[in-house]
Amino acid sequence: MSMVIPAPELAQRVASVLMACGSSPVEARIVADNLVLANLSGHDSHGVGMLPRYVDAVLEGGLKPNAGVRIVLDTGSLLTLDGQRGYGQVVGEQAMQLGIDRARQHGSCIMTLANAHHLGRIGHFAELAVAQGLVAIHFVNVLSRPVVAPHGGADGRFGTNPCCIGVPLAGQAPFVLDFATSRVAQGKMRVAHNEGRKVESGYLIDAQGRPTNDPGVVVVPQPGADGAGLFGALLTFGEHKGYGLAVACELLGGALTGGGTWHRPADSARTVLNGMLTILIDPAQLGTQAAFDAEARAFVDWIRQSPPAPGGDGVHLAGEPERATRLERARTGITIDDQTWAEIVEATARAKPPAT
Ligand code: NAD
Repeated sequence: MSMVIPAPELAQRVASVLMACGSSPVEARIVADNLVLANLSGHDSHGVGMLPRYVDAVLEGGLKPNAGVRIVLDTGSLLTLDGQRGYGQVVGEQAMQLGIDRARQHGSCIMTLANAHHLGRIGHFAELAVAQGLVAIHFVNVLSRPVVAPHGGADGRFGTNPCCIGVPLAGQAPFVLDFATSRVAQGKMRVAHNEGRKVESGYLIDAQGRPTNDPGVVVVPQPGADGAGLFGALLTFGEHKGYGLAVACELLGGALTGGGTWHRPADSARTVLNGMLTILIDPAQLGTQAAFDAEARAFVDWIRQSPPAPGGDGVHLAGEPERATRLERARTGITIDDQTWAEIVEATARAKPPAT
């Protein structure tokens, strides 16, 4: 069972819960619109289903409503920022605005953002940069329950560490590659579990390190030998290659930003912190703009001429599926499964401002 809600109505509902948790109307609107945009883009894992977790994080004291980004160091093209545990949707946009301004001024900007609460869909930040004609590269780590196993390991040691590359393409919609380094996003396992679905082989291992198709192993604790709740883990995509990229995200998004890496046993905290290294490049100032435009266009045209694989729907470019889903869901509304809706209703009941 599920329900279908128009995007504006859903955003209104989410914003009212965020305000009940102490957010200003402006902050509530930014966060709500960001979550609904993730649903509209087809990434329900990073949409309004996160709201109960945010309410818990505020109540737990790990997420600070109305916190803004703090500039720790500013050398012009190097920016060191602290998200001060504010909503990632808010401090992430503030950080991108600063970084975009500096890249416009200096031709490039290397920006670190530590201690942001959950940044949500990283592609959103790349989309802000490519809309200004900039190339954007993001490496992100996740400080939360470690749900992804290192290649060759049998338990979770780090998060779903996303990586994102946005490239503006002259005269056409941009390339926006945005993915978790786990075989699939953790939130997608929550959605599959809520919908009672099994998942493909090769995504998951159970609490004993054995392959499984049950998404519940990373959503609800499994009884361990001594009665302690244990979780299974997600596997990285592309075996050792995705694993290597996940480690790079931890080293760059976690260690280099100063936000910290994960190296402790799982706890029950609901707070999710992200660290993000962002590299912004202005092709106009690099002096290669004309060649970049021509060569990028020629390459994209070339790959699009590949005939569709048998039974498939042809070649797509990263960013297209999200844009197509946005058009469709803006028209049809957003489908929310019963379990997710029940969790949102429960969270609404316990929403209150943080203790001061
Ligand atoms: P995914 O597996 O759906 O991959 C998405 C990427 O692949 C997009 O760039 C999309 O345009 C591209 N793509 C999809 N189908 C394609 C096709 N047929 N041809 C070409 N390109 C195609 O995404 P995911 O790994 O499940 O990640 C989902 C979201 O979760 C991302 O937005 C990511 O940023 C976010 N995330 C956030 C965190 C966090 O802590 N903030 C952690 C993990 C993931």
